[in-house]
Amino acid sequence: MRIILASSNRGKIAEFQAYLKGYEVLSYGEIMKPFEIEEYGKSFKENAIIKSRAVFGRLGDKNAVVLSDDSGISVPLLGGIPGIYSARFAGIETNAKKNLELLVQKLKEAGVERADAFYTAAIALSTDKGDFSVHGWMYGEAVTNPKGNNGFGYDPMFIPKGFDKTLGELEESVKAKFSHRARALELALILLKTLIKDRK
Ligand code: IMP
Repeated sequence: MRIILASSNRGKIAEFQAYLKGYEVLSYGEIMKPFEIEEYGKSFKENAIIKSRAVFGRLGDKNAVVLSDDSGISVPLLGGIPGIYSARFAGIETNAKKNLELLVQKLKEAGVERADAFYTAAIALSTDKGDFSVHGWMYGEAVTNPKGNNGFGYDPMFIPKGFDKTLGELEESVKAKFSHRARALELALILLKTLIKDRK
């Protein structure tokens, strides 16, 4: 069975492919020209559905199964930022390094070296039966001294609960087991199996 991912983020795609072994997982960019999807939603869930629905619509294939992920990191001490704006925290023309540096700066301005933080992932599934979504979370701390190169995005400044190293330093297998995306995917798989149950 072919699952189309409504994402061009290489870090996310690699995590989806590792988790969805046994399925053929393709980025939508491999089957059509990637197009701008405006994420005007007010929640991770709304934005995830906007993405999966947009790609499902363009595919024009009623048998297609499209999965999307909208995710980000939130720091309650700072009022929940960057939250749904994680990907564009430092502006539209930003990159992962600039976003991370801005969050480090915000923590320092608040006078702390670490603060509770959590990642959220909303995964949406669009099929001919409609749009569905599930969530997963990973709790830990955001720190002002980023370390390591594993993972992507804010991982070098995130220490998951129960560990003393950042996700940038920890083996990728840790993230594969406990991440917000892995937890949401666990639920998404149940949903997926239900949705495609009677398909030939
Ligand atoms: P989206 O592609 O619009 O959902 O934005 C997701 C953004 O949230 C990414 O660009 C990262 O900045 C951040 N993010 C989401 N998941 C992770 C993760 O697993 N590790 C690090 N950063 C993440």
